[in-house]
Amino acid sequence: MTTSPLTFEITAEDGEARAGIITTRRGAIETPVFMPVGTAGTVKGVRFEQLESPDLDAQIILGNTYHLWLRPGIDVIKACGGLHKFIGWKRALLTDSGGFQVWSLGELRKISEEGTEFRSHVDGALCFLSPEISMEIQAALGAEIVMAFDECAPGEASYEEARRSMELTLRWAKRSKEAFCNLQAGRPRMPDETSALPARQALFGIIQGASHLDLRRESLERTVEVGFEGYALGGLSVGEEKPVMFDVIGAMAPRMPVERPRYLMGVGTPEDLIDAVARGMDMFDCVLPTRNGRNGQAFTSRGKVNIKNARYAQDQQPLDESCRCSVCRRHSRAFLRHLFLSGEMLASILLTHHNLAFFLDTMRSVRQAIRSRQFTKFRRDHTERLGSGRE
Ligand SMILES: [Zn+2]
Repeated sequence: MTTSPLTFEITAEDGEARAGIITTRRGAIETPVFMPVGTAGTVKGVRFEQLESPDLDAQIILGNTYHLWLRPGIDVIKACGGLHKFIGWKRALLTDSGGFQVWSLGELRKISEEGTEFRSHVDGALCFLSPEISMEIQAALGAEIVMAFDECAPGEASYEEARRSMELTLRWAKRSKEAFCNLQAGRPRMPDETSALPARQALFGIIQGASHLDLRRESLERTVEVGFEGYALGGLSVGEEKPVMFDVIGAMAPRMPVERPRYLMGVGTPEDLIDAVARGMDMFDCVLPTRNGRNGQAFTSRGKVNIKNARYAQDQQPLDESCRCSVCRRHSRAFLRHLFLSGEMLASILLTHHNLAFFLDTMRSVRQAIRSRQFTKFRRDHTERLGSGRE
């Protein structure tokens, strides 16, 4: 019996919400956790020093298999000693399988039993991704957490369509695990892996089934039979209505193995995160704080602020009075608006920084609230405050 490459300990519970610690080769991650998305090896607009600073203190970030595979290519990353070394990040990483990115190419892809054929968005070249190839790429990238290669059905998928996709995802989950185990067998320890945990990576399985609860339940049971270190809900926030998404989360989370991390992929706003924590989810990632930041939108404790809005032209207040991030301590809405309207790159940098600080700080408060068994009150106060400042 080999030691697990990742451990998960629940330290406090409040209702269905749980606070815990995931321990990886590169340190501990407190949950519930928000993971900033680093698509091409960079969390857009944020320096790594900032990600590590007390302001943000991101304990884990994401890398995208699809993007890194196409550019700069796996040979480059391998030659540069793996993704951590290549990008200069010593903390934990999670890589997705590429399945979702390929799926979002829409018409440009062709799915078969073997895998997915698609045209590269970089140069139009014909590419092919399969469970085996995804595992090989993710082994070379070397993240602490690796995702199984899955197929995502659209949110409004018919029952037949969702079943076919769910069955294919299950067959791909088995192939992912087999390929993963073969690749992990002789994996050497990297020089900067400090933990006593083994050098192996951890593989998470993905539950699909669109908005059909019986398919979701079957997907969960059969994915757990294959056996993974953690379990993710995939295929949500892909066009279905929000209540539908929360029905799926509410029905699935309590059924997911208690002793394993539960990861909600690609969702959502801070309110969505809190609502999902209330249903028992532990891990989250989303492009909203970075993407919306670049588009001039800030998330605050009193709702969203669109910095383009003329009402901020002479506004001396920070983005969020209750935020302690370095942007809110130093700059006014008026200045941020001026930067944004002038097309200054600093606008994107500062708004992204604040948004990430807000997401990460919200999760810190969530953890604190669960630990002190005040989560219900925290959730209610948070919602009330949000409602009070709508634009
Ligand atoms: Zn701030």
